[in-house]
This record gives sequence, C-alpha cells and structure tokens, in this order.
Amino acid sequence: MKIGKYSLGIGDRFGHQGEAQLRAVVKAAAAGVEVVPVWNKSNREHSYIHSQPGDTRLEADTAVKALSFNGDYYVDADHINLSNVQGFIAASDFFTLDVASKIGTASGDEQIVAFIASCKKYSGILNIPGIAHPFEVSEQLLNTITKKFLAAIAEAGRIYNYIKDQKGVDSFVTEVSMDEVETPQTPVEMFFILKMIAEQGIPVQTIAPKFTGRFNKGVDYVGDVAQFAREFEEDVLVIDYAVKEFGLPDNLKLSVHSGSDKFSIYHIMGQIIKKYDKGIHVKTAGTTWLEEVIGLALAGGDALELAKSIYKSALNRQEELCAPYADVIDIKQNELPTAAEVDQWGSEKFANTLRHIPGHPDYNANFRQLIHVGYKIAAENGVKYTDLLDKHHDLVGSCVEENLFDRHLKRLFGL
Ligand SMILES: [Zn+2]
Repeated sequence: MKIGKYSLGIGDRFGHQGEAQLRAVVKAAAAGVEVVPVWNKSNREHSYIHSQPGDTRLEADTAVKALSFNGDYYVDADHINLSNVQGFIAASDFFTLDVASKIGTASGDEQIVAFIASCKKYSGILNIPGIAHPFEVSEQLLNTITKKFLAAIAEAGRIYNYIKDQKGVDSFVTEVSMDEVETPQTPVEMFFILKMIAEQGIPVQTIAPKFTGRFNKGVDYVGDVAQFAREFEEDVLVIDYAVKEFGLPDNLKLSVHSGSDKFSIYHIMGQIIKKYDKGIHVKTAGTTWLEEVIGLALAGGDALELAKSIYKSALNRQEELCAPYADVIDIKQNELPTAAEVDQWGSEKFANTLRHIPGHPDYNANFRQLIHVGYKIAAENGVKYTDLLDKHHDLVGSCVEENLFDRHLKRLFGL
C-alpha cells in the first residue's frame, strides 16, 4: 500500500465536515493536482470529543461515497503509541508512530556500539548528493545521535510490528513522527534516524521531524524563513539519499505537522518539492474546527451567540485549555478582546477577527489561537453545538472548503 505523492491530512474534530473537506481535494484535482485525502485524528482529540476511531472511518467512507470520489484515501491513527494503538487497528490504514517521548531514552551498550560500527562508511566527511557543503560526522556526533534516537526508533519498530502482526504487511501506510519536541532534528540527524528506521524494518512512507521555527496551532509560521528553507531542502535531499542507501520505500516524503495556516512557508515547500520532484504530506486539523466557528458566527442568531460563548468560556479557562498545547501556541494576553467587546460584535466582525487572512485589519492571531484550543468547550456543548452545525451545514461547509482549497491547497501547490 503506497500513498500518492501529495497528500493532505484533514483533521475534523467533530466529524461533520468530511464532505466539505473532500470537495476541496476534488477542486484541487480539477485544477490539476492530485492530492490524497487522509483523515487524521489523535487519541487526545478522540478523548476530548468522546469519539472513536471507527467514527473517523465512517466519516471518510461516507464522504467518499457521497461525492463518488474514486481516488485513494486513508484514515490516520495520528500520534499513536503502544498504549493506545489497539483502538485504532480496525479503523485505520495509516499509522503515525509517535516516538517523541522516547527520544533520549537509554539503549543497551551493545546496541549502541553495533549501530555506531554500522555507520563506519558515513563517518568523517559525509557528502549528501545535492547539498553543497559536506557534513562532518565525528565519532562524538555519531555517539550523541545514537544515544539520543536509537531507543526511540526501536520503540517505533515495536509499534510497527504490533500493527503489522494484526493487519498484515503492506496493508497500511506508516509514518514516524518526532515533531512534538523542543529541539528540531538536523538534516544529519535525520539521515541516521532513517538508517535506524531501515534497520528496524519499518517501511516508512512519511516522516515528521521537528522543523526549525514555531509551528503554532492555526496561525502562520514564526521563525527564520530562510533557515527553514535551507533545512527543508536539505531534509528532502537527505531523504532521497537515505532511500537509496538504506533501501527505504522510494515514495518516502516529509510530513509537516501543525501544517495548516503556515502560509509564509507554503511557496517555499512547494518550490522545493517541485524542484526535486518529491512528494509531501501536510497535516491540518484545528483549522477546520475554526471554520466551523466562523460559519456559525456568520449564520448569526443563536449560532453567533454560541460562537461568542465559546470564546468567552475559553477566556475564563485559558490555563486549563492552553496547558496541553503550551509548546504550540503563543497568545499575547493584552491583545485578546474582552468578553464585553466581543458581546458588541456582529457576525462579520467576529468572522473577520477569526478568519486567517493575513493583513486583514480585523484579523487577530491571539483570538484565533485561543479559540483553536477551545474545541473542548464546543464538545461540552454536545448536541447544542452539533445541531447548529447541522442546521447551518451549507454555510459552514462552504467556509471549510474555501479555507482548505483557496487558502491552503492553492498556496501550497501554486494553483
Ligand atoms: Zn504532530
């Protein structure tokens, strides 16, 4: 089972927007770019929403049937580990093995020595085809990289085997992720990580490193764009070389997590993958939930009131809501509108403040990030929330579709 060159992770917290999301993908195909939709949902999202992996499968199958979509599509068990993978086995055919928490865990001395010995060919000066400057791989660097990542990749091997034993070889797509950490992995680290993955026998098709800069939820990239571009290009070349050296699947590509809304680096990623004729996977999740809130705000009446009440509750419960996302949000307190101010807003003002249009005078990235982490409040509203989604299905769906197609796919693929 081989995933296509370009794929888009489309998270959908409440499971109501599958069709709207798929319409964006269909539009991209009509514009000349085949994008494989992958419905991704993590265990954490499921637990907040009280949904099951089977619900995501049903959503995907239903959307595909409704639109008579005949391309490939997948359901991603996002950020799973050995403790929670079992619940995803039946419903998923894409598994994101998250081993970030195992980085830095100790490996046996024997394994460390053996891995370092197996890297002899690459020690000293390492030239990666296409990268102008050589990498210096000292004994000490190899030692550091091995100690840092060997146990984490061994864990990925255990998770992979656990899934394979139940689903069978070649019946699912495997991603390895280590994005939820503080320090980015360098291209040279990535090279040796891929060697470890190959030795574990994991047929990895997408890999999600931590990139340089901040990938805050639902808002634009924050960081040194030139440095990002350099590292992204080196990662692409490292993968190309690693595939040949270690016999990894030839469609192996980068996966960009928290990839929604990173508009200022989309053209860079787009240009680089085009230049080397490579694929990419971009994961989005909360950006669709934010479009639901925008759609409800635009609907006015009690839907606008609910959108406002979600913000006002989030304002009161910031600490609790932000804690699990501390590394991936940056909210400036003094730029958040007060509850009293928001009470005065009409539909347009609310929607314009929330919608991600860089440079729009009303757009407020702080407001947007706070609502991003506030989906728990919508979940607490239960059917009150989902009934309004149903009632305003067309309006909300058009917001979701426009966001994914016009603001994301168009920018990423230069459509
Ligand atoms: Zn991630």
